Amino acid sequence: MLDKIKALKQEFDKKLKQTENFEQLKTLENGYIWKKWELAIILKWVKDLSIEEKKEVWKFANDIKKELENNIEERKIYLEKKLYKEIEEEEAIDPTLFFPSENTGHMHPLSTTSKILEDIFISMGFKIEDGPHIEKEEYNFDKLNIPDNHPARDVWDTFWISDEINKHKKSWEKVLLRTHTSPVQVRSMLQYDLPLKIIVPGRVFRYEQEDARHTSNFYQLEWLVVWEWVTFWDLQWTLQTVMEKLLGSDVKLRFRPSIFPFTEPSAEIDVSCQICKQKDPSCRMCSWTGWVELLWAWMVHPKVLEDCDIDPEKYSGFAFWMWIDRIASQRFKISSGRLLYQSKLKLNKQF
Ligand SMILES: [Zn+2]
Repeated sequence: MLDKIKALKQEFDKKLKQTENFEQLKTLENGYIWKKWELAIILKWVKDLSIEEKKEVWKFANDIKKELENNIEERKIYLEKKLYKEIEEEEAIDPTLFFPSENTGHMHPLSTTSKILEDIFISMGFKIEDGPHIEKEEYNFDKLNIPDNHPARDVWDTFWISDEINKHKKSWEKVLLRTHTSPVQVRSMLQYDLPLKIIVPGRVFRYEQEDARHTSNFYQLEWLVVWEWVTFWDLQWTLQTVMEKLLGSDVKLRFRPSIFPFTEPSAEIDVSCQICKQKDPSCRMCSWTGWVELLWAWMVHPKVLEDCDIDPEKYSGFAFWMWIDRIASQRFKISSGRLLYQSKLKLNKQF
């Protein structure tokens, strides 16, 4: 009897070695442990034996059964390892293989322009600052000398965050999508000690009618210097130096007087069109004028300094902001700023 069981075990061992996958293993397990082994065969064999013999056979059979279960577990582990090895070999990556260069990506013209600008300013000792896109009304307007109901607020076509969020807030605590990077000036003046020398590159949002020069979100770069005795002349010199480094030594700047509530005095600055070099009467980028409105520059209003706990009798500041989009268009000679936001690989691959 015991020999018969041993023979059955040997038969099982042989079949186990032949299993090559989990399905075959499962079939074997079902056949031996649950049906053939315990019920169909053993019960039939032991029915005519004495109680003592039955005990002996059952004990032996149970030991063998445990052995079978262990064997199946071991085989499972073996098959798992084999499977993972096969997957590993199939999906192996060889990092030394040649990868066709036409499939590699590169930076978008806007990112490239930001990086160039940041490098220029870092080389001149400026620090890069950042701020939130969703800004408090206080920082976007009030602390920049543009209080509630001031007509200058109409200049910035503002995206307000929904009424549901704003309706319980006090006026200056209401939130909006920042219309310019200037709130970061306020945050920095409140946070850092003087002297202050920062640039703020970042995305801003306006409810604009879109055309070749206007989009509803765009990138600005703003700078701010607050120190003793800084003047409009320092502003002009810094600006000329930056633009020459950025667009080439033949670039010309044109200053026009302007006014903003947070500035005193201020200027709008046009740059000679780098796309047509002031020679193409059909150029869309400069609207046939030869000049592109690219920058605003100003001396910081004393009231703004005062609101940020800085003594305007002792310190003065100058600042400017520029459209990174328009700089990118000028530098890469892209005729419409809107193209920069259309995710067109065809355009991006050219730069
Ligand atoms: Zn032009």
